[in-house]
Amino acid sequence: MIDEKGILFILSGPSGVGKGTVRKELFNRANDLAYSISMTTREKRSGEKEGIDYFFKTNEEFENMVEAGQLLEYARFVNNYYGTPRKYVEDTLASGKDVFLEIEVQGAMQVKENFPEGVFIFLFPPSLEELKNRIVDRGTESEDLVFERLKEARNEIHMMDAYDYVVVNDDVNSAVTKIQSIIQSEHCRRERI
Ligand code: 5GP
Repeated sequence: MIDEKGILFILSGPSGVGKGTVRKELFNRANDLAYSISMTTREKRSGEKEGIDYFFKTNEEFENMVEAGQLLEYARFVNNYYGTPRKYVEDTLASGKDVFLEIEVQGAMQVKENFPEGVFIFLFPPSLEELKNRIVDRGTESEDLVFERLKEARNEIHMMDAYDYVVVNDDVNSAVTKIQSIIQSEHCRRERI
């Protein structure tokens, strides 16, 4: 039997754990999932594209969207806003397609309030040391921002218990394979005549 509504999957975890890399590899493999592109007020990094990586907004535009109830969740993360467009998620789920969010922990907790039936996956770093190396190696952040992101990461790790699944990201391919298994299992769990 076919599920009528799509399932909402939320991939979250500390900054620097590799959520973006895991998500990109998942989408290289899977073509039956819809990725919800987030809104952000942060500066575009080199190589990033409007409407592919993010929808880049000014503070004012972002705050207007919050005011108008257009975001399913939003968070302030290291001095910038990040948020998920509500309409895209709701319409896509209603059309029967699964939606995949890749967001930080505060936002994921807001989604849990509105969509308790969502599937919450926590991507866990192999170690805090490794997490620091990844944030530093990325080279896109100043020293202060690296420090802020690490501080944030330590807080975020404590939220792990609120999630349905924990996936350790010691290897991207095996983390993606585990996430694909979770997606498959959740469909089987919902199969009903
Ligand atoms: P970055 O600036 O590295 O692209 O993202 C910073 C953090 O914001 C990452 O943890 C990323 O997963 C998260 N993020 C991206 N989009 C959203 C969103 O729509 N909502 C929330 N709450 N976090 C997001």
